[in-house]
Amino acid sequence: MTASSPPSSIPTHLCVGCAMCCNGTLYGRARVASGEESRIVDEGHELVTAEEKTYFRLPCRFESCGRCTIYETRYAVCRTFQCALLRRVEAGEVDLDSASSIVAKAQELVRAVVANDPDAAINRGRTEVRAKLAEELDRLPEEERHPTAQRLLNIIALDTYLERWFRNKKSPPQEAGDDSDSASNS
Ligand code: SF4
Ligand code: SF4
Repeated sequence: MTASSPPSSIPTHLCVGCAMCCNGTLYGRARVASGEESRIVDEGHELVTAEEKTYFRLPCRFESCGRCTIYETRYAVCRTFQCALLRRVEAGEVDLDSASSIVAKAQELVRAVVANDPDAAINRGRTEVRAKLAEELDRLPEEERHPTAQRLLNIIALDTYLERWFRNKKSPPQEAGDDSDSASNS
């Protein structure tokens, strides 16, 4: 998801090829704007309600290879959402080259996780895999722990990096879309 106000070319430069706020890497759900519920359901998304707010589940079915395939008609949340990194670029606190490197590093961390734990590619699955690996680690004898410990460390490294650079501090880790933070882009 990405858009900014006032319009700028930064989201295009930074977000195309990233889409971590659309594909479930960063968040498990995105806010639904009032009046868009029917369209979003008709387009095949599952809605969830929490604390009287409505969300659609991520990953979004319109994300493909880091791009939004319905960009011109994307949802309201997708037009307003900015991750923490994009906000810092827009504010001039991080330059575009550095931000692109940060996105590339995050994608490298995702690949390291997915190599062993494909279910951990998305935020929701990652929480479950992380808990399962931690349990496994407790049960294993010390000499057999290394591979499991490495998988767990890969997941922790990814989550820490996403928290450090991408998640808006007001949003719970599972969602994109409050306070004008909903996930979506490109
Ligand atoms: S911008 Fe919105 S509609 Fe497009 S892929 Fe992302 S979440 Fe889906
Ligand atoms: S996570 Fe941030 S940089 Fe990546 S596509 Fe979303 S808004 Fe853009």
